[in-house]
Amino acid sequence: MNQTNAPEISVKIHHRGVVRGDAVTDDAATEALCGLCGGTQAVVASIGELDACPDCLRARLEAMSVARYLLKAEGAGLPWGKISG
Ligand SMILES: [Zn+2]
Repeated sequence: MNQTNAPEISVKIHHRGVVRGDAVTDDAATEALCGLCGGTQAVVASIGELDACPDCLRARLEAMSVARYLLKAEGAGLPWGKISG
């Protein structure tokens, strides 16, 4: 998907460096700090002005799936199969 208005994604690897688009920067001082859970993580990806870790991103993807299911939005499936109860 080509989102021309979306900012370039930057990924930080803790104590390794940053990849922004195709640009790779080695930097041992890189801190992969999640702006959502506040924890230092192995890796984070940018979401606008924030960085977010895989667990926080996964939680939001799941929340989107659940919301679409609950509101019976078009195209809603259960892609992760994690709804229980
Ligand atoms: Zn997080």
